[in-house]
Amino acid sequence: MRYISTRGHAAKTPDASGRTFTEILLGGLAPDGGLYLPESYPLVSPAELEQWRRLSYADLAYAVLSRFVDDIPPADLQRLVSRTYTAAVYCNGRVGTAASDITPLRWLEQPDPGHGEGGLAILELSNGPTLAFKDMAMQLLGNLFEYVLAKRGESINILGATSGDTGSSAEYAMRGKQGVRVFMLSPHERMSTFQRAQMYSLHDANIHNIAVRGTFDDAQDIVKAVSNDHAFKAKYQIAAVNSINWARVAAQVIYYFKGYFAATGEAGMAGRQQVAFAVPSGNFGNICAGHIARMMGLPIGRLVLATNENDVLDEFFRTGVYRPRATGETCATSSPSMDISKASNFERFVFDLVGGDPATIRKLWSEVDAGRSFDLSGTPFFARLPAFGFVSGKSSHADRLATIRQTYDKYGLMIDTHTADGLKVGSELRTPEMPMVVLETALPAKFEETIVEALGRKPERPASLQGIENLPQRVAVMDVSVDAVKQFIKDHVC
Ligand SMILES: *Cc1c(COP(=O)(O)O)cnc(C)c1O
Repeated sequence: MRYISTRGHAAKTPDASGRTFTEILLGGLAPDGGLYLPESYPLVSPAELEQWRRLSYADLAYAVLSRFVDDIPPADLQRLVSRTYTAAVYCNGRVGTAASDITPLRWLEQPDPGHGEGGLAILELSNGPTLAFKDMAMQLLGNLFEYVLAKRGESINILGATSGDTGSSAEYAMRGKQGVRVFMLSPHERMSTFQRAQMYSLHDANIHNIAVRGTFDDAQDIVKAVSNDHAFKAKYQIAAVNSINWARVAAQVIYYFKGYFAATGEAGMAGRQQVAFAVPSGNFGNICAGHIARMMGLPIGRLVLATNENDVLDEFFRTGVYRPRATGETCATSSPSMDISKASNFERFVFDLVGGDPATIRKLWSEVDAGRSFDLSGTPFFARLPAFGFVSGKSSHADRLATIRQTYDKYGLMIDTHTADGLKVGSELRTPEMPMVVLETALPAKFEETIVEALGRKPERPASLQGIENLPQRVAVMDVSVDAVKQFIKDHVC
C-alpha cells in the first residue's frame, strides 16, 4: 500500500510511487500542503466480512490495519494492536459495561423490523484513559511511534497546543514511551479543573505541561511559530500528533466495522443489512474514517454528520458551499471539542468527491488557504454527494440539554454534550430500514457543568479518576513567548 497526497505530491517522489505507511507516520502534511491518502481503498468482500464478525477487537484491528500497512512485519503489527486494545486500557466505562468489548454497543431501542423499527444504539468509544474517543486512535499511535522510532534509533519531541481533549489523549498515549517527549501548551487557568488535573497530574519524565498566560489561540500561535522555524524544528526533531495524522484516521476505521457487526447480530446478513452511523463532528476525522470504511465495502447506508452551533460542515452538506469561519466567528459552546472554524480532514473526503483529481483540490484549497470559501453547488460533484451516503444536521445548547434530559429519563443513560449532538441529529434522520448507531465521543464525567445544568446532578466518575483534582500537579507556567517555549524545550532535551 502506497500513500499519495490529495494535492498530487506522489508524482514528485523519486520513483513516483508514493510513500509507505511508516514513512508518513511521523509527519503531518505532505510537502505540497495536501493530506496523505492510500492510492486506492482496500476492498473487503462479504465473505471476509462474515469472518471478521467473529474477531476480537484486537484481531479485527489487525485485519483492518494490515490492509493499510505493508512495511511493518505482520507479527510485529499483531503484537502492537494486541498491546493497544486491552480490557485494562478500556476499563473506564459505565457500571455494567464489559471492558473486554473495548467498544460495547448499547441499544436504546431494539430493532423490530416487523413494526418498521430499525433500532437506535450508542457505540461506546470513550472508555479509554481520558474518557474520549480520541484514545481509540491515540493509544495505537503511541505504540506505533515507539516501535518505529526504536527501529530507526531516533527520537522525537511532540509539540502541541490543547484546549483540553486532544492534549490529554496525546499525553496518556505517549507517557513512558521510549524515544518520545511531549511538550503540551495549554491556556493558563482556562481549562476546567478536571481537565487540568487530568493533564497536570502526570509525572512521567517524558511529559511536559506548559501553561501559557494567554488563550488557546496564543498557545496555538506559539506552536506554529516554533514549527515555522525550520532550523529549530530540524535540530530538535519537532513533531505533531494532530488530527490529520493518517494513522489516527486508519485506527478509527476499525470501530465502524466493530459497530456494524454488533448492530447486525449473528444474522449472516453482512453485505446486505445496512447500518447508519451518526457522528458528532468537528475536524472531520471521525466521520472520514466512516467514509473510508464504507469505501472498503462495509454496508453503511447513511453517514449522519452532526455539528453544534459551529456549522461549517452542515452548511456544506446542505448547500455545497464550504465557508471556513474566521477565528472570531467561531463560538465557544457546551460541546467544545466540536468548536472548529475549518475542518482539517475535510480535504480527504473532497478528494474522493471530485474523483481523486489533485488539480481540482489544489484549485479549491488555494481558496481555503487564502481564507476564502468555495461553492460546489451546481457542479456534478455536488450532484454526486448522495451517492456517498452523507446527510447532516446541527444542534444547539438547548437541543443538547433537552437530549441529555430525554435520554436520561427515557433510557436511564447519561450522555455527554457531544454525544447529545450526535443523538439529536441522528434521531431526526433515522429511517425504519436500518439501525442508527450514534458514536459516543466522550463520557459525561468530562463535562460536569453542563450535565448539572441539564439534570441537576453530577455525572458518575470512573473509579480510576476519582479524586484526581487532589493529586499533586506538575506544570510550567510562562508568558506568551515563543523564545521562552523554545528555551524550555532546549533545557529538557538532552
Ligand atoms: C475531537 C472530538 C470530536 C470531533 O471529532 P472530529 O474527528 O474532529 O470530527 C467530537 N467529540 C469529542 C468529545 C471530541 O473530543
